[in-house]
Amino acid sequence: MTCFNELIFTAATAWPFIWFMDLMRYLVGAGAIVAILDVASAGWLRRRLVRIRPLADGQKLREFARSMRTVLIFSLVGTCVWVGYQLGISKLYFDVDRYGWPWLIASFFVFIVLHDAWFYWTHRLMHQPRLFHWLHRTHHLSVAPTPWTAYSFSASEALVQALYLPVVLLVVPAHQAVLFLWMIWMVLRNVMGHSGIELLPRSWLAGWWGRWLTTTLHHEMHHAYGRHNYGLYFTWWDRWCGTEHPEYCQRLQALVQGLGDREPSDVIGATGEVGLKSR
Ligand SMILES: [Zn+2]
Ligand SMILES: [Zn+2]
Repeated sequence: MTCFNELIFTAATAWPFIWFMDLMRYLVGAGAIVAILDVASAGWLRRRLVRIRPLADGQKLREFARSMRTVLIFSLVGTCVWVGYQLGISKLYFDVDRYGWPWLIASFFVFIVLHDAWFYWTHRLMHQPRLFHWLHRTHHLSVAPTPWTAYSFSASEALVQALYLPVVLLVVPAHQAVLFLWMIWMVLRNVMGHSGIELLPRSWLAGWWGRWLTTTLHHEMHHAYGRHNYGLYFTWWDRWCGTEHPEYCQRLQALVQGLGDREPSDVIGATGEVGLKSR
């Protein structure tokens, strides 16, 4: 009983800090992209808009409210990870010498690749008609995603997203710095994917990286059409499993060509839909 009380005390004292960090991570990540978008909508970055469908009235406010619930759920799961570490269940560690620098660096990439696989397969599962309504429908209420859509989940989906960390830490050792960097990467890529504006350099989009990294256009098409393009960081699962949108490559090419042209209206029509002229 004393042990149980100690764990409750550990969780209760750790939670406020974990919640604050989760909140800041989201607000800074999404806020930075929102600031860029404000500049972009009126300036030269307009040619990078990949918006396919219009925003709904009051959408951003609803997304923000749902995001606060997601932050709460993420922080509660994060607190469980901390308690798991106290119990010796979690493979979180703090001493670099325990596994050395090579593993510390490699584990960052392992975390990203495994997270991508977790996201792809749970995402596809959540698109099954029986699961969609009570897991994933809330996220798809945003047919035109915004940076605030990144965390706009139902409570049940937020839990699915959050569970990756405690599950992977059961088997993969990770230094606290790796977790911190992975979380920064995760929120930035997530927010970029929902921003409605292509932020990767044109040279990346035109080359190898553009074919293997998911772009904003990739996820924009997922929200606009409600299927295809399930990947998070990389396009390989969609390509291997035949779930990539059949027009994705064509539209990406049109976007790249448009970014090389002097006149942005070549690829971005009055509705903002990319690739209209190429279809
Ligand atoms: Zn989806
Ligand atoms: Zn999304």
